[in-house]
Amino acid sequence: MTRRRRIYEGKAKVLFEGPEPGTLVQYFKDDASAFNNQKRGIITGKGVLNNRISEYLMTRLGDIGVPTHFMRRLNMREQLVREVEIIPIEVVVHNIAAATLSKRFGIPEGTQLPRSIIEYYYKSDELGDPMVSEEHITAFGWAMPQDLDDIMALSLRINDYLSGLFLGIGLKLVDFKLEFGRLWENDEMRIVLADEISPDNCRLWDVKTNEKLDKDRFREDLGRVEEAYQEVARRLGILPEGGPVDVATPIREPGPR
Ligand code: 5GP
Repeated sequence: MTRRRRIYEGKAKVLFEGPEPGTLVQYFKDDASAFNNQKRGIITGKGVLNNRISEYLMTRLGDIGVPTHFMRRLNMREQLVREVEIIPIEVVVHNIAAATLSKRFGIPEGTQLPRSIIEYYYKSDELGDPMVSEEHITAFGWAMPQDLDDIMALSLRINDYLSGLFLGIGLKLVDFKLEFGRLWENDEMRIVLADEISPDNCRLWDVKTNEKLDKDRFREDLGRVEEAYQEVARRLGILPEGGPVDVATPIREPGPR
């Protein structure tokens, strides 16, 4: 039996070498972390749901012409993705004031922002993901000005599309975090959406009740965390067959194929 080469292990996902050059297998774990790793836990079935939710959203975005790393789902917890050179920047889009943005500027949680606000954070656990400006990004060579133009345009397009999609299922897209990568094809480079889009990196509130249906339930110990992820999948019409029971079943850990 061969063992797959582990390329990278993050807090919520593992990347393995893919079956063909230029591909990777993205494995979704149930592990959850918050506040720069100070809070850790397990959200049972989260990996299965995020694999599905991210597949669905990346596919929809692909349909409207947003380039993504997603190729296809392989099984309950794994998807095949294109290997990209990750740009070490977290792109955060805010539509409604919440959490850190509310605190920083003294804006009550839930206030609709006059327009969407994009922020950049440097991906570094040691430094606690500091907020950076376009100046830092270009001066330190993390991305070229042209890359940043593409990243900003794609982020706004993704925001417009996903805001509408979620509104259609009774959810407000409050804010979310994106990551992008460089994909080389022959001598051409394209910026593509990477990582995942799921309740782990989106704030989603019910339109009528403002109930939180995302990782804030874990961050703030609100309870019914698994149910919130299931509810998002249910509203998207993609709850895995067998529903919640299947999702709660422990899945083998990544290892031998
Ligand atoms: P905030 O700036 O309030 O911490 O986060 C804004 C949005 O981006 C939230 O939806 C949050 O889930 C997401 N986000 C920001 N940083 C991270 C991160 O390091 N990991 C994940 N998964 N999401 C993040």
